[in-house]
Parts: sequence; structure tokens; C-alpha cells
Amino acid sequence: MARIAFIGLGNMGGGMAANLARAGHDVRAFDLSAEALERAREAGCSPADSAVAAAEGAEAVVTMLPAGRHVAEVHEALREVLPAGALLIDCSTIDVTTARAVGEAAAAQGLTAVDAPVSGGIAAAQAGTLTFMVGGTAEGFARAQPILAAMGKAVIHAGGAGAGQAAKICNNMILGATMIATCEAFALAERLGLEAQAFYDIASVSSGQSWSMTSYCPVPGVGPVTPADNGYRGGFASALMLKDLRLAMEAAAEAGAEVPMGSRAAERYEAFAAEHGGTDFSGIIESFR
Ligand code: NAD
Repeated sequence: MARIAFIGLGNMGGGMAANLARAGHDVRAFDLSAEALERAREAGCSPADSAVAAAEGAEAVVTMLPAGRHVAEVHEALREVLPAGALLIDCSTIDVTTARAVGEAAAAQGLTAVDAPVSGGIAAAQAGTLTFMVGGTAEGFARAQPILAAMGKAVIHAGGAGAGQAAKICNNMILGATMIATCEAFALAERLGLEAQAFYDIASVSSGQSWSMTSYCPVPGVGPVTPADNGYRGGFASALMLKDLRLAMEAAAEAGAEVPMGSRAAERYEAFAAEHGGTDFSGIIESFR
């Protein structure tokens, strides 16, 4: 079992660090929030006074932070103290440019870094059923794999540095666009006098089928139980969907890629999240009614 520093014990990181401790790892945890740190202690982690203190003597460091600038800051502080060969695993969702930059800075210092963003929300983080998409060298992936496996059900090597983040934002760009397409279709069906259940029974086995339709149906009482059945509470907040779509738009602009559906989805979530940022992203169906 490894000595692992875990930085960022929020909604996602709290459950992930607990799962590492449960798997028998020696987890030294740090968060700016004293409450988050206390919860980590209760879950079997050893609280530290700073990110640097948590990382002393660690074989690996896992970060689960809000955005690229937090990851860059923490990595910069840790690069000074980590022993050569230490492994940095960033599980946050951040921009591809920063992911590549921190990967290069780590390599220049004799460290190994991988970007390993996740698919799956807070419940999956607690249950240890996340999917990790990993960017980095084959050696970095091989070393990160057993640590990530203690927190997830699937660990997939996406390619070189930044490829994990690229996979994450491209996946979520599909998700944002298909959720909107599914919502507008249900709203149109309703106006045309079609029962939502009848439309679901047909589209879910026809070419309109998608994950947004059959695993996350935005209409209450139709398909599996989803946040729609809970007043659009819980699930994946619209503000987080907007964050991922903005990252996708930023990456598309830098790469010179055309993303007409993604950019329209970003505009719609921009408008929706301005008033309903905490609402599940499938709640956007209300804006078509
Ligand atoms: P969160 O805001 O609940 O947690 C972030 C934590 O980082 C907070 O506890 C904060 O105090 C801490 N933090 C910030 N700066 C710090 C620093 N310099 N040192 C130590 N701690 C610091 O966010 P979250 O929902 O846990 O999300 C974390 C990441 O995971 C984000 O990048 C998010 O986009 C991604 N993500 C979230 C979800 C989700 O459903 N919540 C799903 C997939 C991916």
C-alpha cells in the first residue's frame, strides 16, 4: 500500500480520499476547508496542515480541485518538495492547456504527472465507481492505474499529457448537446399531443436513442429514476455542465475546431445556469416548455 497525499476534499475528493483509505493506503489529506479536513479524518485519512506537509514523503499526490489555476498553484508548491520519481495524479476537470503545462513542468523536475479526470458524480465518487480517463506516458498510466482502481470501476488510457482532459470535455460536449436535443424533442412531442411515455417507448428503441434519453431521461416518471423524478435536484449541476462546455469552447478555439452544436449548447447552458446553476442539467427542459 502506498503513502498518498490527497489535496482537495470537496464534494468529489472527500469520497475519493475515503475510498483510498478504505483500500488500505496511508492517505495524508489537505483542504483549505477545516470541515472538509475533519470529514477526511473521520473517513480514515490523516489531516495535514498544508499541501506541502501532506506531500512530504508521499509516493503519489492526488489533486481534486476546482480549476486549472488551483492545480497549477498546488503543483508548483509541491514540485519543490517531492522526491524525484514521485507521481502526480490530477483528477480535477481543467483546461487542456494547463493540463499539458503541469505535465511538462513535472517531467522537467524528474516527476511523473498524469491528468485523470472522471466521469460520474458525487454518488459515484462515494461508491468508488468513477470512470477515469488518463492522459500521460505509458509508465505514468501503469503507476496511476492501481491507485485509481481503488476509486473507480474503469481506468482508461486516453493518450499523452492532456488527453484525459480532452476526452472528458469532448464527452461532455456530446452530453450537453444530446441533453438539449432530447429535451427539445420531448417538449415538441408534448405540443404535438404525443404522450411522453409513448414517445420514450418509441425513441428509446429507435435512432433518437442516447444516454440522455435512456439513462438520464429529463421527463419525470418516464424511463429509469433520474434527477427529473426528484425535482431536478442532485445529479450533475447545470453550473458544472456549463464549466465543462466553456472548457470545450476554449479548447476548440485554440485548436481551430468548428463546434456549432457544442457552442449552441454552451449558450443555452450559460442562460439556464445564470438562474438555475444548482439545478440538475436535465432541468433545462423547463426552458423549452
Ligand atoms: P468542490 O468545490 O466541492 O471541491 C473542491 C475543494 O478544493 C474544496 O473543498 C476547496 O476547499 C478545495 N480547494 C480549493 N483550492 C485549494 C487549495 N489550493 N488547496 C487545497 N484545497 C483547495 O468541487 P467538486 O464538486 O469536488 O469538484 C472537484 C473537481 O471535480 C472539479 O474540477 C469538477 O469540475 C470535477 N468534477 C465534479 C463533478 C461533480 O459532480 N461534482 C463530477 C465530475 C468532475
